[in-house]
Amino acid sequence: MDMSFSPDDQAFRAEVRQFLQDRLPKRLSEKVRLQQELTKAEIEEWHAVLNEKGWLAGNWPREFGGAGWTAIQRHIFDEESALASAPRVLPFGIAMLGPVLQKFGSKEQQDRFLPRILNGQDWWCQGYSEPGAGSDLASVKTTAVRDGDDYIVNGQKTWTTLGQHANWIFCLVRTDPTAKAQEGISFLLIDMTSPGITVRPIVLLDGTPEVNEVFFDDVRVPAENLVGEENKGWTYAKYLLTHERTNIAGVGFATAGLAALKRIARAQQAHGKPLIENPLFAARLAEIEIDLMAMATTNLRMLAQAAAGQVPGAESSMLKLKGTQIRQAINDLTRRAVGPWALAFPSEAVEGANDHLPPGPPEAAAATRAYLNNRKLSIYGGSNEIQRGIIAKSLLGL
Ligand SMILES: Cc1cc2nc3c(=O)[nH]c(=O)nc-3n(C[C@H](O)[C@H](O)[C@H](O)COP(=O)(O)OP(=O)(O)OC[C@H]3O[C@@H](n4cnc5c(N)ncnc54)[C@H](O)[C@@H]3O)c2cc1C
Repeated sequence: MDMSFSPDDQAFRAEVRQFLQDRLPKRLSEKVRLQQELTKAEIEEWHAVLNEKGWLAGNWPREFGGAGWTAIQRHIFDEESALASAPRVLPFGIAMLGPVLQKFGSKEQQDRFLPRILNGQDWWCQGYSEPGAGSDLASVKTTAVRDGDDYIVNGQKTWTTLGQHANWIFCLVRTDPTAKAQEGISFLLIDMTSPGITVRPIVLLDGTPEVNEVFFDDVRVPAENLVGEENKGWTYAKYLLTHERTNIAGVGFATAGLAALKRIARAQQAHGKPLIENPLFAARLAEIEIDLMAMATTNLRMLAQAAAGQVPGAESSMLKLKGTQIRQAINDLTRRAVGPWALAFPSEAVEGANDHLPPGPPEAAAATRAYLNNRKLSIYGGSNEIQRGIIAKSLLGL
């Protein structure tokens, strides 16, 4: 297995780095570096820059307007973007819905929706989870009942990330209540401006309304918005989930986080010396760095296998589990490293009013915020307990 980057890959990395240097607005990278909340307009601004270059949808084939990158090129782009503190590309339209429409959508749906994802006309959100249907997604209860040319949708979705900004939601709905759990589900595209939809914010531990509850009360949805066949939605839902876990290891995010932690630890004093020289702290830091190096190698091994045509299986559960554990460990140590500065949890640090940053090292201002916000990493995208179950069954044969 060849885990080294080819000369072409290295040239691509240099091109990405140059592009980020030339086109990533400093204002945006500063906000990302300081873990501040990006506005809708700022996220759209970065999407537009990438789209202009043809790099917004690295995972899409060129025929649909994507960049058609290999798994290794996508990894390089994600890594360089994280290291340059670029805003992440929102996954909902690009990484999740796009591939589903390309494989299972009608020609009309592809022609209508795919260009609008690229040019920023549509902001999609994911309507999978419900109260009582998260890990056990097959028990979704939101119903869609056929009425002439429409479906009438009733029910509730929850944890809908950035749904407050979205004008479209892709939903799993129950179209046959009598069938076995997985067999009565359909995949429906719903216009968020339809009458009967209510979006209510859920405030996370860090004080940000990043997720929402979405209620459907007799919402009329044209039947042409059904993807694929009625009652076959589980197949499309599972296909989407394999794409949801792209860049799941988050090596770039962890590497950038670790570098920030080291900067803070060099600047902080503990007992008259830089914190980074404190043996206990240094040991904790080394432990995380070794874990990260091991995970980065595992990630490269999987990329090499993907390049050789193998489809990653349960190994992606290992990356989800380790990747999120490492990032949470970095958040935790950063919060400890900033010491008393972690107690101040100013709204300025979250809202990104750069001129009102609180005292202390600039990267410390949002340390507590990042720590609290990233509790989510081990829950979403398939909780870590579920990943452990998959590893136990599929990899260890327990
Ligand atoms: C910040 C955030 C953003 C999210 N964004 C979205 C979104 O945009 N769209 C969307 O559809 N969903 C979203 N989710 C939902 C997410 O996918 C679910 O929270 C996740 O699937 C877990 O489901 P649950 O919350 O219902 O927990 P439950 O399934 O009720 O699980 C509760 C606990 O029990 C454990 N558990 C459950 N079953 C087992 C088992 N068989 N073995 C061992 N342990 C088990 C779980 O791991 C967990 O610790 C988001 C969640 C969060 C926190």
